[in-house]
Amino acid sequence: MNFELSEEHSMVQKMVRDFAQKEIAPIIKEADRTGEMAPNVLERMGELGILGICIPVRYGGQGMDYISLGLACEELEAIDTTLRVVMSVHTGLCSMTLLQWGTEEQKQKFLIPLAKGEKIGCGAFSEPGAGSDFANIQAVGKRDGDDFVLNGEKMWISLATKADYAMVTVRTLFDTEKVSSGLTTFIVDLESPGITRGDIHGKLGVRAGSTGWISFQDVRVPAANMVGEEGEGFKVTMSAFDSGRYTVAAGAVGLTRAALEASVSYAKERTAFGAPIAQHQLIQQKIAGMARDYEIGRLLYLKAGWLKNRGERNTYETSIAKHFATDVSFTAASEAIQVHGAYGYSDEYDVERYMRNARGAIIYEGSNEIQTLIQADYALGWRKDKPLRCEMPAYSTEEWQST
Ligand SMILES: Cc1cc2nc3c(=O)[nH]c(=O)nc-3n(C[C@H](O)[C@H](O)[C@H](O)COP(=O)(O)OP(=O)(O)OC[C@H]3O[C@@H](n4cnc5c(N)ncnc54)[C@H](O)[C@@H]3O)c2cc1C
Repeated sequence: MNFELSEEHSMVQKMVRDFAQKEIAPIIKEADRTGEMAPNVLERMGELGILGICIPVRYGGQGMDYISLGLACEELEAIDTTLRVVMSVHTGLCSMTLLQWGTEEQKQKFLIPLAKGEKIGCGAFSEPGAGSDFANIQAVGKRDGDDFVLNGEKMWISLATKADYAMVTVRTLFDTEKVSSGLTTFIVDLESPGITRGDIHGKLGVRAGSTGWISFQDVRVPAANMVGEEGEGFKVTMSAFDSGRYTVAAGAVGLTRAALEASVSYAKERTAFGAPIAQHQLIQQKIAGMARDYEIGRLLYLKAGWLKNRGERNTYETSIAKHFATDVSFTAASEAIQVHGAYGYSDEYDVERYMRNARGAIIYEGSNEIQTLIQADYALGWRKDKPLRCEMPAYSTEEWQST
C-alpha cells in the first residue's frame, strides 16, 4: 500500500491549486455577492485542461487518472464550491457517462469538445416532482422515425443555462414490469428547437454558480444520441452518479480543509482572556475535529478513486465517501464560523460562504438519506453489484495517454 502521491498527482494538485488561488480566490466573494459566475471561469478551466482531466488524450482529455480528478476537485472546492460543481456535472455526470456508455460516434462528436472545454456539459435528471424517487420521473420521449421527441421539465440542474449539451434521462417505455426499466438516456444539444431554460434565484449557497431549469417541448433528438440502449437509462444515470458523487466527496474534503485552515489562522491571531483563542481547549477541540474529518474524508475518496483506477465497481465506497465528506464539511464550516465568533457571521471572512455552500451537497447527487439506504442495502447483503453491459473503463496510463 502506498499513500504517497505520484509526481503527476502532485503536478495536477499544484496546477489546480495555483489556478484557483490566483485567479478565483480574489474575485469569488464578489461573484457570490452578485450571484454571477466568476467571469471566464469555464473558459479558463477548459484552457488549463481541468475539464477533461481524466479523459483519455484520444478523446480530447489530459489522460490523467481518476485520483487526479479527485485531487483537482479537492483543490477547486478549497477555494469555492461552484468550481467543483462544474467538475461534478460537466466531467462527472456528462463526460464520464459518455466515456462509459457512449458509442464511438458519440465520443467523437460530443466527448472530444467536452474534454477540450470547447463545449460545456451538464446532467439533467431531477424534475420538479422527482429527485430521490428518480425512477418516477415524468419527462417522456416518443419514437418518431429516426428521432425521439422529448417533452418534460428538468429542475435544479447545475449549469442549465451555461451548458451546450445535457445528459438527459426520460421515460420512453411505458409497459415495463419495473418503472426503472422504462427509462432511456440521451445526450442532447441544448440549442435544439423546443428547449427553454433559466436560472433559479434565491439559493442558500453556490450563488456564484448556475443552477436552473430546462423545459423540453417537442424537442427532436436523433436516436443516434441515445446513451446506452433503450430502457437502460436508470443504469446509465446511476453510473453517472457514481462518477458525480466521487467529485462531490473529494470537493467536500477540500471545503473541510479550507474551514480548518481558516480556523487555525484565526485562532492563532484572535486573543481572548489574555491568550490566543487557539490556546483554549474548546477551540482546540473544534480544530482537532476538522483535522480528523479532513484526514478520514481524504482516505475515503482516495480509496474510491483507487477502485475506479482498477475498473472495480465502487458504488458502496463512493456513497460512503460522499456521505461522510459532505456531512463533516458542513459541520467543519459551521464550527469555523464559531471559531471566528461574530466575524464568522459576516462575509468579511469566507467561512459563512463555506457553510452555505456545504449545505447543498448533503442534498444533491443523492441525498445523504438515500446514501444511508444504499449503504444499508450493501451492509445487509440485500444489494450486490451485477456486471453492467458497459463498465467504467479501468485507468491505463498507456491507453489514456495514447493519441
Ligand atoms: C444546488 C443543487 C444543485 C443540483 N444540481 C443538480 C444537477 O446538476 N442535476 C440534477 O439532475 N439534479 C440536481 N440537483 C437536484 C438534486 O439531485 C435533488 O434535489 C436530490 O436528488 C433530492 O431530490 P429532491 O430535492 O426532489 O428531494 P426529495 O426526493 O423530494 O426528498 C425530500 C427529502 O426526503 C428525503 N427522502 C426521500 N426519499 C426518502 C426515503 N426513501 N427515505 C428517507 N428519506 C427520504 C430526502 O433525502 C430529502 O431529505 C441539484 C440540487 C441542488 C440543491
